[in-house]
Amino acid sequence: MKAAARTAEVLVVGAGIAGASAAFALAREGLRVVLLERESQPAYHTTGRSAALFIKSYGNATIRRLTAASEPFYQNPPEGFAETPLLTPRGFMFIARADQLPRLEEELALARRFVPAARRLEAAEAYRMLPLLRPGYAAGAMLDPEARDLDVGAIMGGYLRGLRAGGGELCCDAEVRAVRRDGGIWRVESRAGVFEAPVFVDAAGAWADELAALAGLAPLGLVPKRRTAFLVDPPPGMEIGAWPLVADVEERFYIKPDAGRILCSPADETPSPPCDAAPEELDIAIAVERIQRAFALPVRTIRHRWAGLRTFAADATPVLGFDPRTDGFFWLAGQGGYGIQTAPAMADLAARLIAGRAREETAELRAALDPARLLRGR
Ligand SMILES: Cc1cc2nc3c(=O)[nH]c(=O)nc-3n(C[C@H](O)[C@H](O)[C@H](O)COP(=O)(O)OP(=O)(O)OC[C@H]3O[C@@H](n4cnc5c(N)ncnc54)[C@H](O)[C@@H]3O)c2cc1C
Repeated sequence: MKAAARTAEVLVVGAGIAGASAAFALAREGLRVVLLERESQPAYHTTGRSAALFIKSYGNATIRRLTAASEPFYQNPPEGFAETPLLTPRGFMFIARADQLPRLEEELALARRFVPAARRLEAAEAYRMLPLLRPGYAAGAMLDPEARDLDVGAIMGGYLRGLRAGGGELCCDAEVRAVRRDGGIWRVESRAGVFEAPVFVDAAGAWADELAALAGLAPLGLVPKRRTAFLVDPPPGMEIGAWPLVADVEERFYIKPDAGRILCSPADETPSPPCDAAPEELDIAIAVERIQRAFALPVRTIRHRWAGLRTFAADATPVLGFDPRTDGFFWLAGQGGYGIQTAPAMADLAARLIAGRAREETAELRAALDPARLLRGR
């Protein structure tokens, strides 16, 4: 006999930023949504491990478009979404050695298309802003003054409160273990019981391909890549709160102020199976070496270290849309290193597509994100 199933109009699997924002947007479309999460809390994996930056001049053209389209939501969230601002000023600086100056000019030209205020800095200006920069290291820099910090905790809180207010439900400790389509309905067996709905949203982050396999779908080739971060103390007495995020123009390291400490990363992208990612000593040592070549930053004690998986499709563009191989299976995956800054626009597009209300002017964007592009030639 079949176990009694709980029903919904849409089941979303994965309570990171992708699943939480989509569940929120679907509930606002008037759909009955259940959000299933394997862990005992939301945002345990990549979403809780990010650098929390909103940078309109970062990523490929599709990412930049999604980030720009997300700005109005983060600047003016719906009434009651959050009590504090979701975006606060930070700034984003690329620094370049003499041999990297051509690359800096390319990045500046690209940045200006989305952030006209982005500007070239002479080395002297960069040194004035960053007193720890080693004399002679940087030959030039670029500043995107519109980059901001995101309050990821407040954003997740707002999405999940909004989901509940819209009649939706978050179920934690609900690892999905079996998925089957039966009579036009997805039947999902989880650790928290059985759920049924006509639409299934795969927002499982690093596990997105594995989750699809449970539904009998061959993978799209999404690759989780580990990124490492750690916190160190600034030199005693040094005021760092107003520093921008500073990255090597080839993204071989970055640093940013983080609640009185300095967040450091080697900007690593090591392919990894989906897992509870942990930092490796070697990546930390690489980061320290690269950062100390550029900055006179003594690293005596590492206060906290972590790693998260940024998951990419082959073209580094997210995957959003119905799978053409079956009915009612919707992908919301491959957000790479941009999942927080693009979440409002991705969620809005996903909810409109599922509700059958996609806007005509998003056709080009939908084509860029369509999972079918990753199946061609397979
Ligand atoms: C060091 C680092 C820095 C970053 N910096 C930034 C930044 O500055 N700005 C930015 O926008 N982005 C940044 N990112 C990227 C961003 O964090 C990700 O793009 C985003 O968090 C991905 O969200 P997600 O919801 O897809 O994945 P996740 O947060 O990993 O959520 C997926 C969820 O699915 C659940 N799940 C998986 N399988 C199952 C199953 N079978 N049943 C039930 N649940 C399941 C998992 O438990 C998990 O909670 C950074 C990432 C890292 C690691």
